[in-house]
Amino acid sequence: MVIIIQKEENFNEWYNEIVEKAELSDKRYPIKGMNVWTPYGWKIMRHIDTYIRQELDRTGHDEVCFPLLIPETEFKKEKDHIKGFDAEVYWVTHAGLNELDVRLVVRPTSETAMYPMFSLWVRSHTDLPLKIYQIVNTFRYETKQTRSFIRVREIHFFESHTCHDSEEDAQRQVEEDFVILERVMKKLCLPYSLLRRTDWDKFPGAYYTVGIDTAMPNGRTLQIGSIHHYRTNFSEPYNISFEDANGERRFVHQTTYGMSERLVGAVIGVHGDDKGLVLPPALAPIQAIIIPIISKGNADTVNNATQDLSRRLNDAGIRCQVDDRDERPGSKYFHWEIRGVPLRLELGMRDIENGLVTYARRNDGQKGTFAIADAEKEAESILDGIADAMLQAAWEKQRTAVQDVESLQDPPEKILRFGWCQEEECGHEIEDRFDLTLLGTPYNDDGYEGKCIVCGKATKKAGYAARSM
Ligand SMILES: [Zn+2]
Repeated sequence: MVIIIQKEENFNEWYNEIVEKAELSDKRYPIKGMNVWTPYGWKIMRHIDTYIRQELDRTGHDEVCFPLLIPETEFKKEKDHIKGFDAEVYWVTHAGLNELDVRLVVRPTSETAMYPMFSLWVRSHTDLPLKIYQIVNTFRYETKQTRSFIRVREIHFFESHTCHDSEEDAQRQVEEDFVILERVMKKLCLPYSLLRRTDWDKFPGAYYTVGIDTAMPNGRTLQIGSIHHYRTNFSEPYNISFEDANGERRFVHQTTYGMSERLVGAVIGVHGDDKGLVLPPALAPIQAIIIPIISKGNADTVNNATQDLSRRLNDAGIRCQVDDRDERPGSKYFHWEIRGVPLRLELGMRDIENGLVTYARRNDGQKGTFAIADAEKEAESILDGIADAMLQAAWEKQRTAVQDVESLQDPPEKILRFGWCQEEECGHEIEDRFDLTLLGTPYNDDGYEGKCIVCGKATKKAGYAARSM
């Protein structure tokens, strides 16, 4: 079974084919946009969750798990928030045979589930900062065409929520989130940009939103997460306040940080090729697959040697398996290439006699041999090399995905960078007249100097726009 569609030619269909053939997800479940996590895909997601947990635990966040349902009365307390989510939430209206007095929202995100509890938990400045997170499924009634991991109605989601005694301390949290992000993304070998979203595109109720975007091969961008500063926009309606050192009651400043299963979608889109999925070693359920090369009369010797090699690599912490199915080596190569296994090891009689293992790297097809005696050290160093090469290649692609333009007339299929005076009027013009999504301005100053592409006023801010996925 080989991949039929080429990535460059039709990215969307190529993507769907990879998801299916690599057995990452089964979308035949009878609710559109609610897919089944099959074992291989779920193992990849679990690795991502593990890295997120590690980083949040390391930075003093505590994991919690809140109920799925939110009373309508709580959901409606922050006005912009309800407006933003009105059209895309699921409602529970009945319990058994009874109609509910207060309808329940199936969480689209957990601000309104958590904040009534925060108002009970936070009493004094000694309770701050409060830093919690959860990894749960959220639900949004997506009306656009659904796509595995990228646009679904049941979303595997990570969200952290923090409360602080000042705006500055909340800002420090945002900066910490960037460090967490960088460390997680390194494991995924994924590049990204941080863009401060426009006021009309920020999270409903936020003071500001930083979108985390990755460039996809079709010239569009995929938002894989976001970080928000809320100031006191939620703490006032939800009455989350504390007594400061002078005995005065003040509202907390809040932040949130969210990422989702879209990270899996980004990994597929950024790293995959015409042979299938390409997994970063840190995510791969199987990091090294061993293929026995058997010929007449040597099956026992070769099988013993491959089992022994697998045991040694697993003992050294490398996730390794032997493919001893009764099939030709060539069809086994295809099988594991489609599934993106980073490292293929081959062991035949001649290799054993020479004390060597033959290897092939999935990311670039590079081949070679190493001494069986040093297998643990060698395999580990090749896997590290694969991760470095994948990260570097992906950043290079991200950089070349952006193009500076002087006009938005017939723009290239790229992420466009141009001068924008920051005025809302010019922003809407960019979106409406040219059918683009204005992604925002770089969160970190990038030294841009130019003129607004609409009104011509001098500006030190660049705008980024693209067709979004
Ligand atoms: Zn302007």
